[in-house]
Parts: sequence; structure tokens; C-alpha cells
Amino acid sequence: MAKPRVREFLSTLNLCSPLDLDPEDRDLLFEAHEAASKAYAPYSRFHVGGAVRLANGVVVRGSNQENMAYPSGMCGERVAVFAAGAQHPDVAMTAVAIASPSPNALAHAFMPCGGCRQVLVEAERRQGIPLRIILQVRDENVMISESALNLMPFAFDAKGLGVALED
Ligand SMILES: [Zn+2]
Repeated sequence: MAKPRVREFLSTLNLCSPLDLDPEDRDLLFEAHEAASKAYAPYSRFHVGGAVRLANGVVVRGSNQENMAYPSGMCGERVAVFAAGAQHPDVAMTAVAIASPSPNALAHAFMPCGGCRQVLVEAERRQGIPLRIILQVRDENVMISESALNLMPFAFDAKGLGVALED
């Protein structure tokens, strides 16, 4: 049997103290925490806020919205990204901050779910510029990814369907 070829993807996260953030990132995280305070999460009690910064400086917030029919709910960062896309379809997203005040959340394990990563990757691919992801639990250390694809190596791609993205 031939030796299998290997495809590797180096995934990098930057970790830093909130005190070392630049003002723009700090402000966006503040927006995400504010958004988390508006979450509707009576079932999980896991409140998450997302804040999307657009290239024109506008910030769009979202928070998780749960439902008694569990699969009908939506994650906070996805609500924010979809709201940004719905309200400002022609403006690129430069960064998404995602935050939770949840007392049980582990700072080093706070990551978007797989579905949200796919949505973030597609937003990044559509606009053709990197989408910076900033993550924080409470006031703990911050994780930063310089690209959405970095969080989802080998993401599903529309090319796999034989179609090209338009719009
Ligand atoms: Zn999610």
C-alpha cells in the first residue's frame, strides 16, 4: 500500500490578558458582554453575546435565543453574524467578539460550536478578507484567532457542491 499523503493545517490561537488588548478589541468585547446580558437562555442558563464589527465601524450585536423546542434556538454569535448580514449585506465584517458571563464557563474551552464555525468561515470566504475572532469568558484571559478558518480547518466549502458563491 502506498504511503498516505498528509494534509496538515496549523491552527493558531493567541492568548492574552484583557489588559493587553488594543482599545478596538476591548470595545468590541464590551459590546459582546452587553449583548450577553440580553440573552434568552432559560434552559441552558448559558448566556452568550456576539458583537460584529463592520468595516465601516458599525457594531451589530446578537445573543443566544433559546426555545422550548431546543433545536429552534440559535447561538449568540450566529444571531450577531446573521443580523449583520441581514442589515448590512454589502459591508465586510472585520471582527467578531464572543463573550459569556456564565459562572460555569471554562475560559480555555470557550469556543463557537461547529455550526457557528461553519457560518463564520462562510462569512469570511464571502468577503475575501480575514475575520478576526475574539473570545472571552467573564473578565478572564482572551483568545484571539486571526481568521475564522483557523477555528475550522478543512471546513465544508461550497466548491464541494460544485457551485461558486455569488453576491
Ligand atoms: Zn454555535
